[in-house]
Amino acid sequence: MNMLLAVHCGAGDRKPTKKHLKTLGRALEIGYKKLIEGAKALDAVVAAIAVLEDSGIFNAGAGGILQMDGARRLDASLMDGSDLNAGSVIGLEGIRNPIKAARLVMDLPHVMLTNLGAHKIALAHHLEPLETPSGKIMAKLEKIRRTDTETGELYKRYFSTVGAVARDSERNVAAGASTGGVVAMLPGRVGDTPIIGAGVYADTRFGAISCTGTGEHIIRMSLAKEICMNIRNMPPRAAARLSLKNIVSIGGNAGIILLTEDGGAVIMHTTPYMASGYVTKRGCFVWEGMHSDK
Ligand code: ASP
Repeated sequence: MNMLLAVHCGAGDRKPTKKHLKTLGRALEIGYKKLIEGAKALDAVVAAIAVLEDSGIFNAGAGGILQMDGARRLDASLMDGSDLNAGSVIGLEGIRNPIKAARLVMDLPHVMLTNLGAHKIALAHHLEPLETPSGKIMAKLEKIRRTDTETGELYKRYFSTVGAVARDSERNVAAGASTGGVVAMLPGRVGDTPIIGAGVYADTRFGAISCTGTGEHIIRMSLAKEICMNIRNMPPRAAARLSLKNIVSIGGNAGIILLTEDGGAVIMHTTPYMASGYVTKRGCFVWEGMHSDK
């Protein structure tokens, strides 16, 4: 069975630029190189997501959206399908690569850490600090604050969280995701991304999935786990379509990348765009959205 790495850069209604797609391609390349070198699926997922966090052009790591009080509180999670080990960080401040912090949590007896402990562990392992937001970013936040009546609408429109799923040479799968959250969120808000079973799920017996979209709806449906369990009894595309339809029916929007146990991959979203792509030995494919499954 082929090794495979798939990446998404958030479901939303903004058309990804060439720069977004190029950076996505670079993340695929770097993650896939790890797989070729014999790394575990989990390590390929971390490597790909770290590239996207570092780029500063997605809503993750250096580009994470600010909460309404001006702080960047970042979320990330990881799950290894070979043993169901998982790690996540919630509301992490001042660290550039929350996905690397989530990886550190996997080596602890815990699954989730909030900023209180996650930050200490990240510093102890010398993870890179995050620069303070520029004046331009603060001005953007100020504009959002002033258009308060539209924040509900803004919340529904802009995403660009990042995520990845991979299958390694041992046929094991892993999933990960990283985000700054959503536009116009209250301080302390936590979305689906760091919640195992909502934003990500991986079990080598079934598949691996990473989600993006309106976090509150994704949490309420336990979207990642639901799809991963449904693919035991129905074709993967049908399982994804059914759950995404249900998300829309409760007022949300979402996108997913899914690897299945038999070697297949599904990319699907309810929004006009979701920059995404995958790489196998046949090549690297990147696009701005899969319109056929809207
Ligand atoms: N799901 C993320 C959140 O709610 C947002 C996104 O996918 O862009 O925090």
